[in-house]
Amino acid sequence: MTIPPDLLRILKIVADHNRWRRFECINLIASENVMSPLAEAAYLCDMMHRYAEGKPGKRFYQGTKYVDEAEIVAMKLMGELMKATFVELRPISGTIANATVFRVLASPGDRAIIAPVQAGAHVSHTKFGTLGALGIEHIEMPYDPENLNVDVDRAIKLIESIKPKFVVLGGSVYLFPHPLKEIADAAHSVDAKVVYDAAHVLGLIVGKRWRNPLEHGADVVTSSTHKTFPGPQGGAIFTNDEALYKEISRTVFPKFVSNHHLHRLPALAVTALEMKYFGEAYADQVVRNARRLAEALHSYGFNVLGEHLGFTRSHQVLLDVRNLGGGAKVAELLEQANIIVNKNLLPHDPPDAIKNPSGIRIGVQEMTRFGMKESDMEVIAEFFKKVLIDRVDPSKVREEVKEFRKQFLEVRYTFDVDLDELVSRSIPIPFIIDLRM
Ligand SMILES: *Cc1c(COP(=O)(O)O)cnc(C)c1O
Repeated sequence: MTIPPDLLRILKIVADHNRWRRFECINLIASENVMSPLAEAAYLCDMMHRYAEGKPGKRFYQGTKYVDEAEIVAMKLMGELMKATFVELRPISGTIANATVFRVLASPGDRAIIAPVQAGAHVSHTKFGTLGALGIEHIEMPYDPENLNVDVDRAIKLIESIKPKFVVLGGSVYLFPHPLKEIADAAHSVDAKVVYDAAHVLGLIVGKRWRNPLEHGADVVTSSTHKTFPGPQGGAIFTNDEALYKEISRTVFPKFVSNHHLHRLPALAVTALEMKYFGEAYADQVVRNARRLAEALHSYGFNVLGEHLGFTRSHQVLLDVRNLGGGAKVAELLEQANIIVNKNLLPHDPPDAIKNPSGIRIGVQEMTRFGMKESDMEVIAEFFKKVLIDRVDPSKVREEVKEFRKQFLEVRYTFDVDLDELVSRSIPIPFIIDLRM
């Protein structure tokens, strides 16, 4: 049989995508990362075809003995990293983790207080997303534009007067930690629970470059497992409160998940081990790189947010690009040069500016994982300058970007495992994939 054209087409799409995004671009999307080849090998396993509803040892399916073990190992490792007694890995995404916890903590008609959208709250925290879908009322904390953060004093007063069921901190667009301790004290004084959404900063937390929310007042941490934490796409929930955990486990299944995408589990365990051994070095480099990139962009005249606060303490850098045509245009121009960023609302933007917001959000975690250091951030800043200030043809810069990227094709901060040794121990790992083939 001749190969059907659509088969060739879809396979070519995959190959083209892999080549472009994995080997020819500088990827600066703040919510993405890559697994190591070892974690990818663990991911590409037969578990991806199986079902395992329920908890390890108490499944509604047969044939899960190895899946159960994988889930138990992954839970143990993730719990150790987060210093959490109880871990729930079945949410298949950060949004599902939030849905689960919000459902447990409140009923339709109840009220929740969330971080201000200007301080980076995720859409799932809002009336436009999961919180709204659950019928929980969203009330935003006041924003302090000077500190690009929650206005602590006014937020405390709000919490004391509203007495919400829970308060949410953590976000998707933030340079500096939210004031967790102060907010948690206020929340607890009115019997409200504190949810910290660590989706963006989980890798920084386990790498000890961001405060662990469980040690600073959060009752429960929700997260995704694929942003600064470089694991498979998925969700996680951490807590030290046993009663809350039991309720969470009863809610995630059957309310929000049936099967939980089982091949995530061994890949997550591999990534957790990488973070256990290399996470501090990685997180440290991420934070240094972000700061250096911000400084270098600033020195070229870009309008980098947070200068008076040292630019950033996370993996993110935020640019106000209104004077360069706005976020949409700038992100498009950079993409033509193989530099991938996303346009983003900045604190002063009205919500309806979503189509052309004034900012772009940059994250350095993935390029750090591929081995970039501070001096490489200076090279990236120079590419920005060429495209956006000198107005060099982006297709010319693209060739330089591809050439530069060639030095950074291997994932670092992982184990150097000898495949022959694994085979000699009867652990054949069939596909360590080389996407370049
Ligand atoms: C990305 C993100 C999420 C959603 O995670 P998904 O895995 O994409 O569903 C939730 N909360 C925050 C703060 C995020 O940044």
